[in-house]
Amino acid sequence: MKLEEIRAAEARLLLSTYERSPVLFVGGEGVSIIDEAGNRYLDLLSGIGVNALGYNHPVIVETIARQSRALIHSSNLYYHEGQAELAVRLAERTGLDRAFFANTGTEAWEGALKLARAYAGLKRSEGANIGTKFLALEQSFHGRTFGSMSTTFKEKYREPFAPVVPGVEFVRFNDVADLCAKFSNEVCAILVESIQGEGGVRPLTQEFFSEARALADSTGALLIVDEIQSGMGRTGKWCAYQHYGIQPDVTTFAKPLAGGLPLGAVLCTEEVARVMHAGMHGTTFGGGPLACAVGIAVIDAIEKNGLLARATEVGGYFMERLRSLASRHETIVDVRGKGLMIAAELDSAELAKLTVAEMLRRHILINCTSDTVLRFLPPYILERAHVDTAIAALDEIFTEHATAHNAPTRGHHHG
Ligand SMILES: *Cc1c(COP(=O)(O)O)cnc(C)c1O
Repeated sequence: MKLEEIRAAEARLLLSTYERSPVLFVGGEGVSIIDEAGNRYLDLLSGIGVNALGYNHPVIVETIARQSRALIHSSNLYYHEGQAELAVRLAERTGLDRAFFANTGTEAWEGALKLARAYAGLKRSEGANIGTKFLALEQSFHGRTFGSMSTTFKEKYREPFAPVVPGVEFVRFNDVADLCAKFSNEVCAILVESIQGEGGVRPLTQEFFSEARALADSTGALLIVDEIQSGMGRTGKWCAYQHYGIQPDVTTFAKPLAGGLPLGAVLCTEEVARVMHAGMHGTTFGGGPLACAVGIAVIDAIEKNGLLARATEVGGYFMERLRSLASRHETIVDVRGKGLMIAAELDSAELAKLTVAEMLRRHILINCTSDTVLRFLPPYILERAHVDTAIAALDEIFTEHATAHNAPTRGHHHG
């Protein structure tokens, strides 16, 4: 089927949850994704932060081939080789003790929320004064299932599905006074992303993060950090909270964890883990042999190829180039991020949308989040030359836009 036929068929057959860009991808290699005509697109989004090693990476291809010949699925009723091996790697890299494997980000986050409620119940049974409330942050994004959605800020994600899970209060982002005012013994967990992803690549301040840790410690509430977008090395460290010297009680991973296969994980301390008993939580598919084998291979490839240092180095260069672009284009009002989790905020939602489309036309993939924020989540194998290509394209788009905008009579209309 060709693109137009597929569009028509999907319009008839699928729930309309996405406004897809009009492009049909059939392959990929390295930093490039390839359309049906053979055009290569520089992918600076990597499947929304998933394809950490890029496309068609030999380690991933070979691991899938080998493991799929051996065993794809066996269920969590029996042992296989992958979960403990992956768990030990994740424990070492998160500073936490135990793991539960799920399939997706939202499912990992549901596991974290369930741990928090159950752990608070255990503490109450041991005489502690601790409630059931969650404090989440404004502009947060934790996923689309009921619990995750209920802790996600945007009303348009929650309202159509009301009533949502009760017991969630939102704190103003990075507002320490609001956090302190809303925190009490009623709270069982404070929920944060170290760097908000969908919320516009917004890092927590050190002050806010430290205060959240201290408040949780003061009552025995948990600090739960969602690293689904920022974790697994994207920011140059395995967890973005490590930039702050903060240690959470619970964290979640997903997006890049298995290099493109669905896999999520919730990790917690030994202390929190003692609440979980056989039968309390589970999954049919989560932590299957195939996904775990690839997860192990991805972590080992990141180590072996020095990709954390690369994310820091190439990410730093990317931000530097964006800052210099910002000095020439007033439309860029902020450049922020860490490693290869980067944003350029524009002064216009219309221009942000146009920029994504114009980049696509130039065969470069980026996206726009929070209306005005251009977001870059490239694969960790990105090189400086790719950054230069992207910056040149952005420069051209902003220059053309400014020209068309300031001197419409000269006839430079684009887009
Ligand atoms: C993407 C994301 C999720 C949800 O992950 P899914 O795999 O789409 O369910 C949760 N939290 C954060 C921070 C995310 O970026």
